[in-house]
Amino acid sequence: MNLDDFRRHAHETIDLIVDYLGTIEERPVGPRVAPGEVRSQLPSHPPERPEPFEAVLDDVRRIVLPGLMHWQHPAFFGYFPANASPPAILGELLSAGLGVQGMLWATSPACTEVETHMLDWMADLLALPARFRSDGAGGGVIQDTASSSTLCALLAARERATGFTVDAHGLSSAHETLVAYTSDQAHSSVEKAVRIAGLGRENLRLIETDGHHAMRPEALAAAIDADLDAGRQPVFVCATVGTTSSGAVDPVRAIGDVCGRHGIWLHVDAAWAGSAAVCPEFRTMHDGLERADSYCFNPHKWLLTNFDCDCFYVADRSLLVRTLSVLPEYLRNTATASGKVIDYRDWHIPLGRRFRALKLWFVIRSYGAEGLREHIRRHVASAEALAARVSASHRLELAAPPFLGLVCLRHRDGDEATQRLLDGVNASGAAFLTHTRLGGHLVVRVAIGGTWTREEHVERLWERLEVLAT
Ligand SMILES: *Cc1c(COP(=O)(O)O)cnc(C)c1O
Repeated sequence: MNLDDFRRHAHETIDLIVDYLGTIEERPVGPRVAPGEVRSQLPSHPPERPEPFEAVLDDVRRIVLPGLMHWQHPAFFGYFPANASPPAILGELLSAGLGVQGMLWATSPACTEVETHMLDWMADLLALPARFRSDGAGGGVIQDTASSSTLCALLAARERATGFTVDAHGLSSAHETLVAYTSDQAHSSVEKAVRIAGLGRENLRLIETDGHHAMRPEALAAAIDADLDAGRQPVFVCATVGTTSSGAVDPVRAIGDVCGRHGIWLHVDAAWAGSAAVCPEFRTMHDGLERADSYCFNPHKWLLTNFDCDCFYVADRSLLVRTLSVLPEYLRNTATASGKVIDYRDWHIPLGRRFRALKLWFVIRSYGAEGLREHIRRHVASAEALAARVSASHRLELAAPPFLGLVCLRHRDGDEATQRLLDGVNASGAAFLTHTRLGGHLVVRVAIGGTWTREEHVERLWERLEVLAT
């Protein structure tokens, strides 16, 4: 494909994306394929000769599009939506087009400096504590996902607590048993991190939650005391702002006090809810965040930026860098040696990295702070309207206090009726919902946050729920 062909096919590909997004509502939101059906349409062997690009795009339309869950459908209310937006898509395209690899400052200075700047802009937009900004001891980096951020935070916490001896010698009998804490509502990525970091699943305490599914700080303090009494070493607490199941907010200030008393690393996972802090009225969820050692949220969930884009902040970057830095001869360079630059390879697990800050830059400039706030407020208003209808219903009820764009509901007749509701909506193809369990009961989650989702889509979902509930 020469550059003239590339220009033509690039236009065709953009046309495909625009046509797809423009007609997405004609498709059922959920996939309608059986296991193996997509693969059975692909040739068993790769082509020997080059194929025309038109044939490739045709197969995308014919084989791929019908085999998708349409995450950008305005009636996608499952999991947490994964936002994309035109400026973000163009930023991603440009990143691929420039094809730079920003592992070191020296391997593409603009890739590093735009990223550092965007993470500071993001800290401004969310009014994050000053300690997370790059002009002090802290700073931010783009990670692929919140799972990776939690793992990196845990690794730095482990090394700080053990004087960097695990990095040096591995976990051994010289160490007391290292323990981590999170709530029984925390995301599964915390357990995964604890297993990967070598602490072991049995050394993760799932702290009990209150009636609103938020961590009880007294229960955390008691668990830490019990571990200390037994000769174990508490190293890490992960608090959640906006749990995946129900949007519960752990009391960060009180949890931070407990961590502060014992010198335990506090990481705050706000993967979904964090984006809402662009609006001043939602910032109370971050109360006490200045007590945290690290923080992350995913613009790829609710801030118009396509996957993958997680913003990870630390209060003391030197701990993270010391934990993750390895400097082989072939990466030595004068900029690194000067100590004046950031080498982001030391801030996460992979070495290589692409220019993901471009899409954040494009999004922030295209929408402005005002546009980002309006985007969040529109979804929250729709969620409030839906929650009001559910509360007033004779057949449905709220299963948890609604928070931001998340409404958890169930049928008053119990789990079987709730399951029928969920199945009914998803079978219709007109909307897509997922479930969770709260207090042993099946719950339907309605996560409102799609780029193209408007009030009328939520209204239509409500009409369907009402009919199915009878
Ligand atoms: C979605 C979610 C995660 C995991 O997100 P990834 O970025 O896919 O790893 C972690 N924590 C919470 C609270 C989430 O909602």
